[in-house]
Amino acid sequence: MREYEVNNMILQVTVTKYLPTNVYFYIDEQSKHGFIIDPGAEAEKLKKVAADKGFVIEKILLTHGHFDHIAAVSELQEAWGAEVCMQENGRDYATNPAWNLSSQIGEDIILHDVTYLPDNAVITLKDNPNHKLQLLHVPGHTTDGCAYYNAQEGIAFVGDCVFRESYGRTDMPGGDEETLLSKIVDRILTLPKETLLLSAHSEETTVEHEMKMPWYQGRLK
Ligand SMILES: [Zn+2]
Repeated sequence: MREYEVNNMILQVTVTKYLPTNVYFYIDEQSKHGFIIDPGAEAEKLKKVAADKGFVIEKILLTHGHFDHIAAVSELQEAWGAEVCMQENGRDYATNPAWNLSSQIGEDIILHDVTYLPDNAVITLKDNPNHKLQLLHVPGHTTDGCAYYNAQEGIAFVGDCVFRESYGRTDMPGGDEETLLSKIVDRILTLPKETLLLSAHSEETTVEHEMKMPWYQGRLK
C-alpha cells in the first residue's frame, strides 16, 4: 500500500488487492473530519490509516459502483458509522453483483443503506459547510459515473472517467463511449484549466493537459 499527500487536505492511498485503485481521503485540516472516496479494498489498512492520523470519516463517496471501488465500503460503513453516497443511477450497481462485476471475482457485493444523490448535489461536513464537494454526473464508463469537485481548491476526484492521457473503458454494463467522451467534454473539460484531476487508476493530471488529447479534438467547445 502506497501513501501520497497530494496536498495538506488530500491523502491518496493506493490499495492493491484487485487492480491498484487510488483511494482518497479528503480531510478538513482544522477538524480532521472528512470524506473517503472509493474505498475499493483493504478495509483494515484504510481503518488503520484513518486511526493513525486521527481522521473522522463522515461520508464514503463513490465515483461509481464497480467492485474495485466499493469492496471495502460495507466494512468501513459499519466501523465508522459513515453515510455512503453515490449518484442516483448507482442503485443498479449497488444491488447487482453482475453489474458491479463482483460476480466475476467470486465475491458477490451488495451495498446497503446508500444515499443516492442527483447531479450537482453538494456534499458538506456536518460542522463545516465550507468543506464540500459537488457531484458532477459523468456517465459513460458506467451510468452512475461521477466526479466530486471543489472549485475553491481546484480539484476534482474523477474516478474512472478520466485517466492521465486516457479515459475509462466503456465495454461493461451501462458503458457507452460516445456518452463518456461528450460528458467529459461537457462536465470536466469546462472546469478551470488548472483544475487538478485525481483519478482512481492513474497519475494525476489537469484539465489543461487532457484538453490536448486527440480524442477530444473536434468536441471541445
Ligand atoms: Zn470502473
